[in-house]
Amino acid sequence: MDNPEVILNIITGSLKLINILAIAGMAIGLFFTINKSRELQKKSDKLTRSLEEMDGQAKLIVRTDMELNKTQEELDKKISGLYALQRLSRSLSTTLEEGQIFRRITASCLEELGFEKACVLLWHEKENKFIIHLSIGYLENEGHIIKSFIDSEQDKYLDLIKKERAISSTLLQQDSQIDKNKLSHIFKVNSFVISPILPKEGKKGFLFVGTDNLDVAVTAGDEELITILTNQVGQAIENARLFETTWKAQQELEKKVEERTHELTLALEEVKKNSKRKTDFISSVSHELRTPLTSIKGYAAILLEEKLGKLPAPVKERLAKINLHSDELVQMVNGLLDIARIESGRAVMKMEAQDLKDIVDKTADLIMIQCKNKNVELVTDLKGKLPAVTGDRTQLERVFINLLGNAVKFTPEKGKITIRAQVKNNEVQVDISDTGIGIPPDALQSLFQEFYRVDNDVNQQVKGTGLGLSLVKHIIEAHKGKIWIESSLGKGSTFSFTLPLMK
Ligand code: ADP
Repeated sequence: MDNPEVILNIITGSLKLINILAIAGMAIGLFFTINKSRELQKKSDKLTRSLEEMDGQAKLIVRTDMELNKTQEELDKKISGLYALQRLSRSLSTTLEEGQIFRRITASCLEELGFEKACVLLWHEKENKFIIHLSIGYLENEGHIIKSFIDSEQDKYLDLIKKERAISSTLLQQDSQIDKNKLSHIFKVNSFVISPILPKEGKKGFLFVGTDNLDVAVTAGDEELITILTNQVGQAIENARLFETTWKAQQELEKKVEERTHELTLALEEVKKNSKRKTDFISSVSHELRTPLTSIKGYAAILLEEKLGKLPAPVKERLAKINLHSDELVQMVNGLLDIARIESGRAVMKMEAQDLKDIVDKTADLIMIQCKNKNVELVTDLKGKLPAVTGDRTQLERVFINLLGNAVKFTPEKGKITIRAQVKNNEVQVDISDTGIGIPPDALQSLFQEFYRVDNDVNQQVKGTGLGLSLVKHIIEAHKGKIWIESSLGKGSTFSFTLPLMK
């Protein structure tokens, strides 16, 4: 151990070992340091990536927020546009005059739709040109420029109407026909929508709306809004046209009714005048006839009584005929005078409360003898106690006597006559029915005319004046009643009339 060499060797060996150990230690240290730094690097990378991701996300959020704001703005615009459209539609739907329709589209409602300028041009078929019906946001000379521009390109715009769909500046590039820049220049706008107005009937055309706001781009939504608006305008034009046609027709009808009423009034006055003339004529002729008739009858009577000497039988026979015919003539003249008097209102009617049962009983009594002679049954059927009617006793008796007399005359043996009376609708209705020969339907209309008699066997055998029913009708009408007939040929007739109740 004392050997220095050995010691040196040991020292050297130790130093080497120490060196080796130191190096090994350093290497280990280095190894750990490197590892640590790698880890740190990794962490730093991760952090950078996270930061980058966060930055990306922040940008995305900002972008999304901006987009959302824009969408919100558009949505607000659309909602306010829809409100404006709704108000406009309501106003348009109540417009019935074509001139009024475009006045409803105002600058303020246009603004709510997002535009400041508008023009409506309608195609006038007769004039063969477009005419401006609405202009908002344009001066007069600008309107002239627009008009002459459209005139120069009218075929293109007629084509556009035919296509039946709206176009906007955003989509116009695809449409080769219309030059967007030229149009923007002429109409002095940046973006626009053109939408056709298409009423089923009436003038077609188009609505142009635009804005010169550079920030505003027309969207598909705007196109939709303007299309809805032009549909409403088309409908309003159609309604106005329909209303105008109906109104015109009504005016014409009213004019015609007025003319006809005037004509009828004149005709009625003429009829009244003629009727008065006729009544006056009949009245005076009847009066004139009465005097000679009375003397004819008087002389015939004197001769017949043979106060002036005995007459041969054939002369007496002829005189008796003169007497009979004179009686008939007197009857006719009296009948005519009665009708004329009632018609002219000269007949004095004593309107009093009348007991109808009384009148029926009395006139039935009078006619009973004729019925018995002819073997005709006479029945009265009065429903309950009849209230009093208003009327002139003598005239009402004439009505019953005439109708009952006719019933007996036109009812063959073994027939039946019924007098019925009842209260109906606040008046009394009397029906006088018989089981007689009846009246042909074509004669019913003329039956109440003076001198009208049906051409039948009875009338050929029994004389009559043809004045009875006319007189009856005049009397009933003078009592504010109505008279009518129901008849069946060969089976019988019913003459019905009404009389007002006593108030
Ligand atoms: P007249 O009895 O003098 O002919 P009217 O004016 O009383 O005149 O009657 C006119 C005509 O109406 C009669 O001629 C007859 O043809 C028809 N007529 C009236 N009453 C009846 C009746 N009950 N049945 C059938 N025909 C009738």
